[in-house]
Amino acid sequence: MKNRPPPTSPDREPGVDLAGAMSYALRVDRSTKQKRAIEAVLQNHRKPLTAAEILSLSLREVPSIGIATVYRSLKSLSSDGQVVAVEIPGESPRYERADKGHHHHFLCRGCGEVFELEKCLEGIKKMAPAGFLVEDHEIILYGACPSCVKKRKPRRQAVCCGKY
Ligand SMILES: [Zn+2]
Ligand SMILES: [Zn+2]
Repeated sequence: MKNRPPPTSPDREPGVDLAGAMSYALRVDRSTKQKRAIEAVLQNHRKPLTAAEILSLSLREVPSIGIATVYRSLKSLSSDGQVVAVEIPGESPRYERADKGHHHHFLCRGCGEVFELEKCLEGIKKMAPAGFLVEDHEIILYGACPSCVKKRKPRRQAVCCGKY
């Protein structure tokens, strides 16, 4: 076993891993930046977004971001209680900020977009028979968004022969 003293240089104190500390700081800084970009994307959009949508919107801010990073940041933001997943059967999970309060969603069958609804049904707890304790509920409305409703109209008119 060789007994060499640790290498020293005038601008570096022995025992301090500056390079390691700096690369750690850069890593932390990068992941914070990526997380902030994702938070900003969710803040600026009034509807829940899929990981793929979050990725394409975040790329404008952080060009180095990838889908794995998006999932990692979403997981971390979810465990911090800042982001919640919106699960719609048969759909990829979407994500939105957790501070929005109680609300529901509308899925457009035309374009596949999910929109936020501000209201909830009154008296929903009374739907359960006597003796049941309602703790939670899920409501999803399905249909066509305004722009898909507009797209439907010309097709209906085309069916008409024009005589009437
Ligand atoms: Zn639509
Ligand atoms: Zn509700």
